[in-house]
Amino acid sequence: MADHPNSVLLDLKDVSRSFAGIRALSLVSFSVERGTILSLIGPNGAGKSTLINVITGVYAPHSGVIDFEGENIAGRTADVVASKGIARTFQLEELFGSMTVLENAMTGCNGKSRSGMFSCGFALPAARREEERIRQEAIESLALVGLEERAFEPISRLPLGERKLVGIARALCTKPTLLMLDEPAGGLAAHEAERLVSLIHLLLEKGLTILLVEHNMPFVMSLSDKIVVLEAGVKIAEGIPEAVRNNPRVIKAYLGQEQ
Ligand code: ADP
Ligand code: MG
Repeated sequence: MADHPNSVLLDLKDVSRSFAGIRALSLVSFSVERGTILSLIGPNGAGKSTLINVITGVYAPHSGVIDFEGENIAGRTADVVASKGIARTFQLEELFGSMTVLENAMTGCNGKSRSGMFSCGFALPAARREEERIRQEAIESLALVGLEERAFEPISRLPLGERKLVGIARALCTKPTLLMLDEPAGGLAAHEAERLVSLIHLLLEKGLTILLVEHNMPFVMSLSDKIVVLEAGVKIAEGIPEAVRNNPRVIKAYLGQEQ
């Protein structure tokens, strides 16, 4: 956004990754400025989830540099990447149906107590304090997504839109600098998508940087500062929404199919 200083938070240079000889990502370069939202779009199989997985340390890139706050994190493990301030949600969020909203949010907090998250009455004081800290962080995250009043309900009672918000609360538990959302609007009703848009605006106001992977074009077009388009692992376009929307190559590769 215009009122943020133009400093680069995440900078990818020539990132490549193959699976069994198939190039899921081929020399992908782009950067995300602090406090902005960049959306990654492209047809199925374009490499969007792979890119998130490579940034978060689920997969190591086979080549390239991933600079986060000036440090190359390419090939670091998922735990290390998370500890540096990068969090993500999943395309198909794995929430625990038998647990409450709060307990689900707590599973995202780092530094889980050694005695297990739900310590018994005999737990050591240090473990109890740790659990209390995690509980507080989870409550703060739930307040941020507007679900603190539902904290003690079983998650199975929530509609899809709110379950997705719990997934975001879980990711926010670690107080990340960069939040990556993998298809958060998938399957949402219009009013649920609107609530998600408001939340994303709120997170940006709070200074978070967001990398969004999403198929819902009106959603992407209205929210993004910048859009990067992938096709078969290659970046085919990059720019502001207006420019990407009118790019013939993008229309041919992607938007044409969607409309
Ligand atoms: P998108 O998220 O854009 O739909 P993906 O990143 O999931 O695309 O997939 C990009 C390509 O990489 C696809 O051809 C997919 O089959 C392949 N791929 C992704 N992950 C793996 C994996 N773990 N093993 C083998 N192939 C994979
Ligand atoms: Mg995907």
